[in-house]
Amino acid sequence: MKCDVCGRAMRRWSVPPTAQEEKIWSCSWCHAATHVGGEWFEIARPSYLPMEMRWERAAADGLPADVSHAFGIFDMTLCGIQEDDMSPSDCWWLPERENACGACREAALVIDERWPQAMRGEEARVSVARRPGAR
Ligand SMILES: [Zn+2]
Ligand SMILES: [Zn+2]
Repeated sequence: MKCDVCGRAMRRWSVPPTAQEEKIWSCSWCHAATHVGGEWFEIARPSYLPMEMRWERAAADGLPADVSHAFGIFDMTLCGIQEDDMSPSDCWWLPERENACGACREAALVIDERWPQAMRGEEARVSVARRPGAR
């Protein structure tokens, strides 16, 4: 699947399919996410979010507690640390915090700049409900 924000290829999350068979795709360039499937076979595209509302803090046993890393995609922090048991915590990763990882902050900035201004509006990425049965 192609990213509707930047046109690059997206990767599918290797999450177990839910009851509604929702699939999640993420762009490895601008990190836009697209959710496909669900009860109404919908294509949901979460809209642009500013850096401090966009990332969750990464949680894993192997991560130091005193540095706050942002959970990126595919078991990886934004700065590239990979841990098998990594998961997003429920709290935001705040780039301006003193304990925020500098490399994560840089990556978040780069990703932020990859979102075209035209795609940042709330209406820029709409959900598209498909007819049942149609593919
Ligand atoms: Zn993209
Ligand atoms: Zn980091």
